[in-house]
Amino acid sequence: MAINAFYNEILTDHNLHPMHKYNLKDPNLILEGLNPSCGDDIVLQLKMNEDGIIEDGSYNGDGCAVSMASADMMLDLVIGKHKDEAKRLADIFVRMIKKEATEEEIEELEEAGSLRDISHMPSRVKCAVLGWHTMEELVDKEPIQNAVEHSGEAVSTE
Ligand SMILES: [Zn+2]
Repeated sequence: MAINAFYNEILTDHNLHPMHKYNLKDPNLILEGLNPSCGDDIVLQLKMNEDGIIEDGSYNGDGCAVSMASADMMLDLVIGKHKDEAKRLADIFVRMIKKEATEEEIEELEEAGSLRDISHMPSRVKCAVLGWHTMEELVDKEPIQNAVEHSGEAVSTE
């Protein structure tokens, strides 16, 4: 099992100093993502405009270091992008974990590319893809006002 220092450092940094772990003021898209096999539970919050651009995003919840760091990196990458682009990047991330992505594609993931070694740890794969999978589901929903009051849905990796 090859876990390099770079991977550990980035994982630790995102857990000690998450950039996007808080509640958005006025998200119009909210979805909970669950990974029962590990106990990861994240609530993803996005603010998407009429053109499908993800203007802002955050997450909250509890889970292991991999799930939290991966969600943080995912948001870093997709904020400011169109939802179609965000889904394309999520597809690359999932294929990277399956070792099916090219080096050029992995470069597009920027820091999230450091999670490629997760593919050697089958038990952590669901942790790594949780935030990305939740985002893919969420961006195809219809944005609503007062999303906080209307939330309650959840997706699961099971
Ligand atoms: Zn986990």
